[in-house]
Amino acid sequence: MSVNVLTQAYSAIVNCIKTSVKITNINTGVVVDTFGIWDTGATNSVITKSVAKQLGLTPVSYTRVRGVGGLMPTPEYLVKITLNNENITLVSRVTECEELSAEQDTGMLVGMNIIRLGDICITNFDGKTVMTFRVPSLETINYVEEVNLHNKCLKIHELNIAKRLPDKCACGSGKDYKNCHGKSLYHK
Ligand SMILES: [Zn+2]
Repeated sequence: MSVNVLTQAYSAIVNCIKTSVKITNINTGVVVDTFGIWDTGATNSVITKSVAKQLGLTPVSYTRVRGVGGLMPTPEYLVKITLNNENITLVSRVTECEELSAEQDTGMLVGMNIIRLGDICITNFDGKTVMTFRVPSLETINYVEEVNLHNKCLKIHELNIAKRLPDKCACGSGKDYKNCHGKSLYHK
């Protein structure tokens, strides 16, 4: 199986996750290099009017989008999207939107139709934001389950010590607690 990955790492905490995006007109091969803001609030990905114009795109359909003047017919395009100039490439339907930045350097919102294809994680450890994304999805990450298992293993470890029993980790790994959940991040 081939897993495609990208990481965007910052040297500080950021309020907006933005990655470089290459958008290609499938019919003509014309390419626009721009930036995409990752937006879990956007159902579908969108590209700005100026990007659509630069690419010379022809709408494949129209969708109704709620705007200031009510529901407005809005063009939809089919484009090839390459994320972060790394190896995540996909063909996606995108809706046209108004400009996202005054400098027009942000040409896209990366919406849930792309994000849901894989696993995404945003961490802010040590004062640095890191976003990492992979396609396809490989694993469920659930911090609540992690903490619950840590607590259970710690409790049974304490009982084992009190009763002078062999101290196997309660997670079922077969390892000694000190070499397993005894090393859990949640001890910090
Ligand atoms: Zn364990």
